[in-house]
Amino acid sequence: MIQPETQTPPSFMEWKELTSLVGSIRTHSLVARPTTIEQCREALAYCRQRGMTICARGAGRGYGDLALNDGQALIDMSDMNRILDFNEEAAQITVESGTRLIDIYQAVHHRLLTLPASPTESHSSVAGAICANVNGKDAWRHGSFAHQIVQITLLLANGETMTIDRSHELFNAVVGGIGLLGIIVDVTLQLRPIPSPFVEINRIPASNTDALLDKMARIETSHDAAVVWVDAYARGRKTGRSVIHAAKWIERHDSESRRREILEAGYNRLDEHRRFGLALHEKFGPVLSLMLQAQRPMMYSFNRLYYAMCQLVSLTGRSSNTELFLRFCFEASFTVPPAYLVCGPHGYTVQLTFPRSSAREAIIELLGICQSSPCPPVTTILRAHKPDDCLISFSEDGYSLNFEFHPKKRHEAASRRAVDRLIDATVRRGGKIHLAKDQVLTPEQFYRVFPRYRDLLAIKQRLDPDGLFTSDLARRVGIDPALNKK
Ligand SMILES: Cc1cc2nc3c(=O)[nH]c(=O)nc-3n(C[C@H](O)[C@H](O)[C@H](O)COP(=O)(O)OP(=O)(O)OC[C@H]3O[C@@H](n4cnc5c(N)ncnc54)[C@H](O)[C@@H]3O)c2cc1C
Repeated sequence: MIQPETQTPPSFMEWKELTSLVGSIRTHSLVARPTTIEQCREALAYCRQRGMTICARGAGRGYGDLALNDGQALIDMSDMNRILDFNEEAAQITVESGTRLIDIYQAVHHRLLTLPASPTESHSSVAGAICANVNGKDAWRHGSFAHQIVQITLLLANGETMTIDRSHELFNAVVGGIGLLGIIVDVTLQLRPIPSPFVEINRIPASNTDALLDKMARIETSHDAAVVWVDAYARGRKTGRSVIHAAKWIERHDSESRRREILEAGYNRLDEHRRFGLALHEKFGPVLSLMLQAQRPMMYSFNRLYYAMCQLVSLTGRSSNTELFLRFCFEASFTVPPAYLVCGPHGYTVQLTFPRSSAREAIIELLGICQSSPCPPVTTILRAHKPDDCLISFSEDGYSLNFEFHPKKRHEAASRRAVDRLIDATVRRGGKIHLAKDQVLTPEQFYRVFPRYRDLLAIKQRLDPDGLFTSDLARRVGIDPALNKK
């Protein structure tokens, strides 16, 4: 039931300060935290009556401004996190949109099921994963999150709900649609059977770009998931020097109760690592930042050492081990420092895809741009992808490079120029930018990367003619309906 106009917001709405994950964007918004669809409708009605725009937010684990709405309203869906149905025979699960991916694992993994396309951030919500159309380490095999969705319930600006399955004309607009068409209320996902919760991990060094692409081509047929650590500091013939971490599911014959025990210990260990990692980084974060003042020599030496160690281990034939998939998939998000420490107060994260056909040239060019910056990236990760049909899609038949930059204050402008050059090079090569990791894209760049944005806006005009749903990102990249009406 929609409430009549009131002066004060409903009790589940309050003004709050919010920052982007990297910490450089600070906002103040009226945040609603509904627990039911009725409260969602109430929040929409309240905003409509006051001429406020609204932006849906999941777990807020995107790096930039895609789930922020400065001076306006946010609807934080994280308390709508119930598991509504689990159809084991069909391997499908229906959850409320704020459910975190790790909660789905906890519900089904012991039944020998997995959710492909899970990003490293296990605390991402299902709706956040849909709207940013995230990708996992298995992206070339199982595609992006779009490929895992069976059905979505969408709450429209007018308060009505709509059921959208894969054959619905709006499917490819809502998925990857950065929350601009409505509020996702619940979702049914397709899970996949696995032989056990364990994978065999192989660490495979590659001496340069040619070796990397050659080995990746083989791994893409022999393995189920892979992620590549790239040494962005290696130059000349060594450009593209890297270590591929490739995983394949293995058979094991544990009883279900034993599997539950093993997994329970696995979740606890991830939690402990998160607490330990956070405590460590809170304590030593400033020291890390200080050390990064000498980041060029430090990263150069660290990378050389890491590569040499992996090469040595691979020569001794001990570069494989068995571990829980959970750990392979999510560990980094538990142990790697939070984004504001990795990237620092002046930093950037950017993930760029480029087509397979020009992968060699793209990798060499993008790493060359990084090396010309006074502060090359502190982490560089490569993944393989496969395309989908979403209007705003990051995935394609190719690879992506993810860079994290931690520039010193005096190098902030130079670092920004490097990021702009990376984006321009990617756009020129017909590549894409991951919006969940972007905080700098301009309208001109956005229009070139995602030319089907016009189709998205046409659908938005139909579903949300008053432009109720928007975000800071939509305003920045020039797709806010208010801007387009001018
Ligand atoms: C450590 C780390 C590792 C990461 N690894 C990966 C990775 O491997 N692969 C990858 O692709 N991404 C990765 N990410 C990015 C992250 O997975 C995505 O940003 C994801 O979208 C975060 O989900 P969220 O619930 O926090 O979404 P939010 O950031 O809260 O929102 C994301 C988008 O979804 C919209 N939205 C959220 N909920 C709703 C709703 N109910 N209805 C309508 N719209 C909604 C928001 O408006 C926004 O546009 C990583 C992030 C971190 C911090």
